Amino acid sequence: MKALVIVDMLDDFVSGALANPRAEAILPALQELLAHARRKGWIRVFSNDAHEPGDTELAIWGEHAMAGTPGAEVITELAPRPGRLELVVPKRFYGAFDGTRLDELLRGLNADEVVLVGQHSHICIRHSAYGAFLRGYRITVPRDAVCAFDGVDEEEALEYLRTVYGAHITSVAELIGRRIAEAVGVAMPLGFDYDSGDVLEHEP
Ligand code: ZN
Repeated sequence: MKALVIVDMLDDFVSGALANPRAEAILPALQELLAHARRKGWIRVFSNDAHEPGDTELAIWGEHAMAGTPGAEVITELAPRPGRLELVVPKRFYGAFDGTRLDELLRGLNADEVVLVGQHSHICIRHSAYGAFLRGYRITVPRDAVCAFDGVDEEEALEYLRTVYGAHITSVAELIGRRIAEAVGVAMPLGFDYDSGDVLEHEP
């Protein structure tokens, strides 16, 4: 069972205190993947910074995503629809597993793979990947649905995830089956909905 883990796509990280223009750029891919995950019945997790005054990180980054403030809200384009398979899991450190119930929640739903998306590929995604690695989850990272800070080498960040945690680096198109269909030359009728093609995907 796959769990899509959307990390820190919050107002403060897109347009607020720690605004990042690259976060806007990955938004269409993220929306596409979230819609796919909902249709396919993957687990969806919103791993959100929700800081309290005095959190250690604040000395480094300044105040951001303070619990209960608008800056700590998921951006409206990706608004969570909480339910059994859609979970909002607040965190106070970089990693999605650090000091949270994420592992327990995922195990309860039989997840064995995390698809890490959002930001930042060299910080919170990296620490979340380490948390997943420690706990034995398979790790998948679609390169077009993650980003680092402006000026940080994205390829280096992805290479770290691949070589250190064994993350499978892919793309949103590959994850939702589009590229596979193109690669094998399957003729698609106009308007064909790839998501409804069960022969093209192998969901665990
Ligand atoms: Zn933080």
